Amino acid sequence: MKTPAQFAAALVRPEIQAVNAYHVAPATGMIKLDAMENPYRLPEAMRAELGRELAAVAINRYPDASGDAVKAALRTALGIDERCALILGNGSDELIQIVTVSLAKPGATMLAVEPSFVMYKANAMLAQMRYAGVPLNADFSLDTAAVLAAIERERPALTFLAYPNNPTGNLFPLADIERIVRAAPGLVVIDEAYHPFARVSFAGRLADHPNAIVMRTLSKLGLAGIRLGYAFGDPAWIAEFDKARPPYNLNALTQAVALTVLKHTDVLAEQAATLRAERDTLAGRLAQLPDMQVFPSAANFLLVRVPDANATFARLKAAGILIKNLHGWHPLLANCLRLSIGTPQENAALLGALQSMG
Ligand code: PMP
Repeated sequence: MKTPAQFAAALVRPEIQAVNAYHVAPATGMIKLDAMENPYRLPEAMRAELGRELAAVAINRYPDASGDAVKAALRTALGIDERCALILGNGSDELIQIVTVSLAKPGATMLAVEPSFVMYKANAMLAQMRYAGVPLNADFSLDTAAVLAAIERERPALTFLAYPNNPTGNLFPLADIERIVRAAPGLVVIDEAYHPFARVSFAGRLADHPNAIVMRTLSKLGLAGIRLGYAFGDPAWIAEFDKARPPYNLNALTQAVALTVLKHTDVLAEQAATLRAERDTLAGRLAQLPDMQVFPSAANFLLVRVPDANATFARLKAAGILIKNLHGWHPLLANCLRLSIGTPQENAALLGALQSMG
């Protein structure tokens, strides 16, 4: 009789067998600066309000399948153009998957710059889409000429551009993004996951570009735990993606939390403002350390280069501080580390630990 492992080895697609599952580092008891989370909890009064709202949710029933109330709240809270339709995802991760699956005709290509958010390429593989990566310049700026050449060569059905980019933190020039969108024969998804920290958007230009949509998430704003991403654009695109969405992808508790928290966007906005200020303070202090190169960031994290990223990562970990070691991810990221912005105390601990290594 064959073992389960033998069955799996014979049946699971080889490209899935070849990869590792997405790794999440254990962080219990550590200062957690590895995942671009908002370090602040919600105020006590809001948590109490959430407790009451969640207690009233009928979890014996399936959730609202369309999430209409959440969409309406997002529209009001974030000022989304009324000509746009919205789709909600179990995190924007799920929306990346939905969009990719929808466009993955046999032989179709996805294009993304590198390094960028790893889930674009991962989803191309899952959806059996060809993938073309275009390297950024050595300083992580956009090599627009190379992207335009790749568009000409590859004719991508789907292009992802993160604005600002993860893991580099920088904003590509909006004019260059528009040139790319105009040149692209396919859909371009502008992934604005870090919008609260950049405060610039492609959204106002969507009406000029029939082949673009904008994707965002509540994760970085302080709600990573509820998994709620959204995308908006012309209803013609969103209606198709809705067909590839699992019917009850947004659970009832997530919807209830979103509805409650979106009544208090001032709280989230204030936290984001604090994090932006902390980012700029920390960037200035880190830049004064010898042997540390700090790259410009419009997100809630900083990309830095040190002489020996593995050693710095290990020493911070030993000091109880978890960051992301990007060394080995991509040739351009040699000796790079990604530092999520924490509370002033956490950032001071990080700075102190780095200073003591100097
Ligand atoms: N897009 C980008 C650029 C990201 O960095 C991330 C999270 N790291 C996501 C999308 C996914 O976010 P979520 O699934 O939490 O909405």
